[in-house]
Amino acid sequence: MERRTFLGVTAVSGAALLTGCKREEVQSAPAIGKRRKIRIKLATSWPANFPIMGEGVVRFAERVKEASGGDVEIKVFAKNLLVPALGVFDACSAGEIEAFHSGPYYWKGKNRAFSLFGGFPFGFTANEMGAWMVYGGGLELWRELYGRYNLYPLLGGNTDVQMGGWFRKRIESLEDLKGLKMRIPGLGGEVMAKLGVNPILLPAGEIYTALDRGTIDATEWVGPALDIKMGFYKVAKYYYSGFHEPGSVLELTFNKRFWEGLPSDIRALITSCAHELNSTMIYDFQAQNARALKKLEELGVSLENFPPQVVEAAKRALAAVIEEQSRLSPDFKRVWESIEPFWRENRAWSSLGLKNFLEMRDG
Ligand code: CA
Repeated sequence: MERRTFLGVTAVSGAALLTGCKREEVQSAPAIGKRRKIRIKLATSWPANFPIMGEGVVRFAERVKEASGGDVEIKVFAKNLLVPALGVFDACSAGEIEAFHSGPYYWKGKNRAFSLFGGFPFGFTANEMGAWMVYGGGLELWRELYGRYNLYPLLGGNTDVQMGGWFRKRIESLEDLKGLKMRIPGLGGEVMAKLGVNPILLPAGEIYTALDRGTIDATEWVGPALDIKMGFYKVAKYYYSGFHEPGSVLELTFNKRFWEGLPSDIRALITSCAHELNSTMIYDFQAQNARALKKLEELGVSLENFPPQVVEAAKRALAAVIEEQSRLSPDFKRVWESIEPFWRENRAWSSLGLKNFLEMRDG
């Protein structure tokens, strides 16, 4: 309502003075209070009411409606309601939906470089990722490469640091990883494969049973808040801190032609609301992970760190994976060349500032 009032008053203040009519009358005059109704179909890759990620998108849609005075209505569709969970990229590219919420690493089959926009093992924290995206050229590159698919991405949240996963047996050496069947997707899976792990992809609904029956020996998911809901602690006792997804990006992506056709003030409004979604999702993960961790400890989960030997081997494996991917894809190489100097520079600062502080605070 606020927005409409503002527009109406600004546009007709001269006329109002001339005719001396009241503010309310001005707004109801036909040519003046004309509203722009913009409706957006947004499909997600998440089930209905999915905590934090799915809920965040619903809040985003409500926020856009509120901030636009009701002009912009985004209808959010849970996965498979309108398009299949992993069909959102193509559907949006083709203009069947105007927008989607998902994660860029799902689309590495289209372009290997896309996985880097989601994050990488030993890579950016959520904060560092935002820094590269907004102030380090990441968003420009992402938009350029998505532009080839008629898509325009906005940052749509971040999972923050993820846990390394649930293991049925303790990992005490590199040997213990050999032949291990683990559900782990993306570049993390490729790094683990080089350590002898057999990475498996499984739909969310099948992971618990597979772990329970021993069809798989381990699984990663997200972090305490979402993992506890999956019940993994009931069937795998050892919960490892992780290096494979230190700050995974979620995307709020629009059909590019549709986006460019929106009035510039609406684009600005949606961009602001997306920034809000991006930061509040990180706060939500922080708050809920902390709460869930406490609960998991009460449930007797054994919190573990990978042995240094495993971590060192994983770092070497990452270097090999990056080299391979860069050889296979000029786009991957180009994105990596943007990331690498920024990554080194930011690690130095995060280590001096944040890591040392955390050691002083919690050590
Ligand atoms: Ca994960």
